[in-house]
Amino acid sequence: MIMGREEVGQRSETVRRANLSAIVRELHLRGPISRSELVAWTGLTRSAIRSLVGDLVAGDLVAEEAAVRLGTPGRPSPLVRLVAENAVVLALEIAVDSLAVATVGLGGDVLWQRRVERLRGHSLLEEIVSDLADLAASARSRRPADETPIGVGVGVAGIVSRVDGLVAFAPNLGWIDVPLGDRLAEALDLRVPVAVANEADLGALAEFRRGAARGADDILYVHGEVGVGGGIIVDGRPLSGIAGFGGEIGHMPINPAGRACRCGSVGCWETEVGEGVLLARAGYPVDGGSAAVDAVLADAAAGRPQALDALREVGRWLGIGLAGLVNVLNPRRVVLGGLFSLIHPFVADRVEEELDRRALAAPRRLVSVVPATLGVDAPLLGAAEMAFDPLLADPAAWLGPRGALVQLESA
Ligand SMILES: [Zn+2]
Repeated sequence: MIMGREEVGQRSETVRRANLSAIVRELHLRGPISRSELVAWTGLTRSAIRSLVGDLVAGDLVAEEAAVRLGTPGRPSPLVRLVAENAVVLALEIAVDSLAVATVGLGGDVLWQRRVERLRGHSLLEEIVSDLADLAASARSRRPADETPIGVGVGVAGIVSRVDGLVAFAPNLGWIDVPLGDRLAEALDLRVPVAVANEADLGALAEFRRGAARGADDILYVHGEVGVGGGIIVDGRPLSGIAGFGGEIGHMPINPAGRACRCGSVGCWETEVGEGVLLARAGYPVDGGSAAVDAVLADAAAGRPQALDALREVGRWLGIGLAGLVNVLNPRRVVLGGLFSLIHPFVADRVEEELDRRALAAPRRLVSVVPATLGVDAPLLGAAEMAFDPLLADPAAWLGPRGALVQLESA
């Protein structure tokens, strides 16, 4: 094919942008690395890396530090690192019992973070939006006055349309078709994109990039609190369905003879493994919240039979559901988050037993079930990761003519 001069130019500009994206992504996920390691990992030439890193340094996204010796022959190679403070995002989370905010820098450094209690039942959209705006303002007041986030990521325990940030259904909040993304964008008034997603999808993203699922490309993240959510990553990409509603494993029908579910169905998985049923079986009020969960864990640690039996029963149902999901998805890793990471020490044996009994031998052999390593903050950190995605996809769009970081046209 013969290309005109203009086409050649366009082609090479496309390649340059893709290469800048590859470099920023590597640095974001792996941390500071030497120029020669960048050469090895990206497969680009030494001079290409020098020129691309130069562009990023001029744009203040990246800094180079004194050369480090790697114990290999040849000249020492400069260490390349992202400048976290020059591209920050705001992460917000609406959990059942709390609201959280974090300012996160490029590279994943949490620069400031706060979580506050939220009373269950206080779920008016305007109240929550106003509380989140206050939290965001306090987060920004801890940072330099001229710092503007490049994006906002929001996690919520509900079924969310990724396209417009509409929360289609959030039983814990009593929300149906609530325009959370639009209202938050107005209240925050930052003129940057506000992306909203399901908290389990975000927990999966965070554990995939920075936690227990690092290095695995096919994962299932199972998040427990009052409800049970799932985040599925297949071949490195989130599985979300046509509108982003996918992954609602908590509402997988599992016990036709079971209890009524908040979604209107009967015997959904979360009616057998959610926080409420654990508390009820352990002899605590179903709406006892995190204090009651702590009490059950203390009872279990002290060897009290009712708590241990309750945990065994939850572990059994957890294993039954996971066996089906392992057969369907053939994941490398199942990451248990939220409530399930807390109870993991007490339920792990039972879960493994049910997997051995019920999952097909071939996928069962390939999967490991592990607790989340990012703790309760996984969805919040995932919200930050989501807010970084446009920059990671095309850093060139953010580099101004004289090196200043500029906002995307579409922002
Ligand atoms: Zn249900």
